[in-house]
Amino acid sequence: MKKTLYLKFILAYFIFGVFSFIIVTTFVPSMTRELLVRDKAEHLYVEASRISDTYATGLYASETDLETVKEQLDSLAVYLDSTIRIINPSGRLVLDTDRPLNVEDEVTIENFDPTATSGSYYMVNDFFGNFDQEMISVFSPITYRYMVKGYVVIHCSMAEIQVSCNSMLNISYITLVILLLLSLIILIFFTEMVYIPLRKITYATEQYAAGNMHYEFQVESDDEIGYLAACLNYMASQIAGAEDDQKKFVANVSHDFRSPLTSIRGYLEAMIDGTIPPEMHDKYLNIVLSETERLTKLTNSLLSLNNLNTRGMLLDRTNFDINSVLRATAVSFEGTCRRKTIVIEMVLTGDELYVYADVEKIQQVLYNLLDNAIKFSHHDSVIKVETSVKNNKLFVSVKDSGIGIPKEDLKMIWNRFYKSDLSRGKDKKGTGLGLSIVKEIINCHGENINVISTEGAGSEFIFSLPLSEDEED
Ligand code: ADP
Repeated sequence: MKKTLYLKFILAYFIFGVFSFIIVTTFVPSMTRELLVRDKAEHLYVEASRISDTYATGLYASETDLETVKEQLDSLAVYLDSTIRIINPSGRLVLDTDRPLNVEDEVTIENFDPTATSGSYYMVNDFFGNFDQEMISVFSPITYRYMVKGYVVIHCSMAEIQVSCNSMLNISYITLVILLLLSLIILIFFTEMVYIPLRKITYATEQYAAGNMHYEFQVESDDEIGYLAACLNYMASQIAGAEDDQKKFVANVSHDFRSPLTSIRGYLEAMIDGTIPPEMHDKYLNIVLSETERLTKLTNSLLSLNNLNTRGMLLDRTNFDINSVLRATAVSFEGTCRRKTIVIEMVLTGDELYVYADVEKIQQVLYNLLDNAIKFSHHDSVIKVETSVKNNKLFVSVKDSGIGIPKEDLKMIWNRFYKSDLSRGKDKKGTGLGLSIVKEIINCHGENINVISTEGAGSEFIFSLPLSEDEED
């Protein structure tokens, strides 16, 4: 299966080779032969025409005698390496450079037909059975007083042409072999640039499919294959990162569940075996109750995070008055604020201000932010909740003057289960999930949340929301 692409390419190369060979061995020989024959015929025709215009016409006009013409043509025949003949229209040989002149021994070519060339001035055959091998025979008519008196025919053996044809074909075959060998370079390129990287990619995908997301591979090229490999590497590293996060998440969840459960179990066992005397039960049952509250909070937070993740962008958006939601959320913290003598100051834009968002989710955002602000504020302090409108967006700010967040922790506070060392003393029930839920919700709305904080001076969380397009809603 793995070798299929390579085999296909080799097969294509083989088919290409076979076809090239067939074409070169079938078409090229006939074309070369035809070309050489035509060339030779043209050359001989020029000679034949010259002879018919000069010697032969002179012979018929009785200006020269047969012996003189024969002498001249004999030497020309040697020069042309051919046989020159003068033939009467009836087929009788008047002169033949291959035979001595003999008036008594009259030779006639049987079936001689000058029109047999069918419009051409030459023919390639045994010349009406007159030769025992293939000859090129070139015709040139001898005209005297507007009448065809005979023909000058030059015969040349095809064997000679065949020899030149073969040597030319040898050149073609050698060129073909060289081209086929050179085209092997394509095969080498294919192997280096496509096949080997593809094998690496296939092997990597097998590794990933088997769950080895940390497998890394290198494809050194800046073309599409290199890009594919880089994307695959990146995808695997992202999945590996997500897997690691998942593991960390599960470890954190287990840890956060285990500690309250351990303390609940410890107190209950101590109560049962009498280590804690009955008069102290109330106190410890309250601790157990607060631990169960922590577990409930943790479970609820995990459920909201899970819903946000799985439902992704599925928000139930409506146009609602953010001012009334802000006021209602602040009211829900009245009891806690009274205990810590904290004042929530509201600086709201307008009486009513409509935004387009998921009201329940935004309520949760405000609840988490105010909860943190109160948790990390000192007694007798003020928390300021402010809204402002800029660039057709609403900005909500929740500002406290509490313990603040150390600079090095600022980036981490959005991570799940993150609790700064500073906060641990102040907030024992915290799950470290509140801000990750907040960020997730705001990002789901396509908006942003930021924090400005100075350790020891306080923190300000600002997030944006889209204003309602139709304020009457
Ligand atoms: P938790 O539910 O434990 O409060 P969060 O995700 O809401 O978890 O907060 C994570 C951490 O961010 C907190 O443990 C705390 O260290 C820090 N933090 C959040 N809000 C504030 C704030 N208003 N002032 C100071 N620190 C804060």
